[in-house]
Amino acid sequence: MTNMTETPDLDIPDFARRAAKYAPVSAALRAVYGYPGWRPWLAPLDELIACILSQSTNDRNSSRAFDALKERFPTWEEALAAPVEEIIETIKPAGLSNQKGPRIQAVLHRIREERGELNIDFLGDLTADEAKAWLVRFDGVGPKTAAIVLCFALNMPAFPVDTHIHRVGQRIGFLPEGISADKAHPVMEAIVPPDDYYAFHLNLIRLGREICHARKPDCPHCMLNAECDYFQGLTRESGADGD
Ligand code: SF4
Repeated sequence: MTNMTETPDLDIPDFARRAAKYAPVSAALRAVYGYPGWRPWLAPLDELIACILSQSTNDRNSSRAFDALKERFPTWEEALAAPVEEIIETIKPAGLSNQKGPRIQAVLHRIREERGELNIDFLGDLTADEAKAWLVRFDGVGPKTAAIVLCFALNMPAFPVDTHIHRVGQRIGFLPEGISADKAHPVMEAIVPPDDYYAFHLNLIRLGREICHARKPDCPHCMLNAECDYFQGLTRESGADGD
């Protein structure tokens, strides 16, 4: 359930004011970007491995590494059985391959040991909290990776906070400044209604890529500037609002 007035487990200053931004921000984003409906992306285990590959690199490099891995090892059984050096060599485009290669094999090994097969579709039968708790036990799997697997591969109520959401969320004022991305997950999940996690996440990311750039946000042309703490602060500082 969305919590618009209380934060029993969150110590977030000014939470009610932050949560009240959701409705106008969501409406403004939908007016421009529409409402992206969920569609299946990768299978859950593929998504998990793709997320591990994506850590500390860009989308293009991690996609190249994932495609190379799938081409060389069409099944995860083959990737698990291969010498780790072959995994490391194959995923080089993703960077940190000496770390990610052993990590991927360790995750695959543990899943097969626990589940008897290389398949994590069963997570869809758990609650979101149970599924998250299961995933974050793995070395290298944190709240963001767990939320991506649940949200994108399984259409479960989890809100991933990636670099765009983390930045944009602080600027708009959903998140207090300086909050860590890991701590931001439960805050966004308390503010956004679960049935809008997927669409709202995608629309905020699109805003981050197209308008609210890391270095130079294009505030004058942003559909959210009336709701945005960052812009309103700038406006007040420059006296542009006439105060
Ligand atoms: S008004 Fe500026 S800082 Fe705020 S969300 Fe839009 S682009 Fe980002």
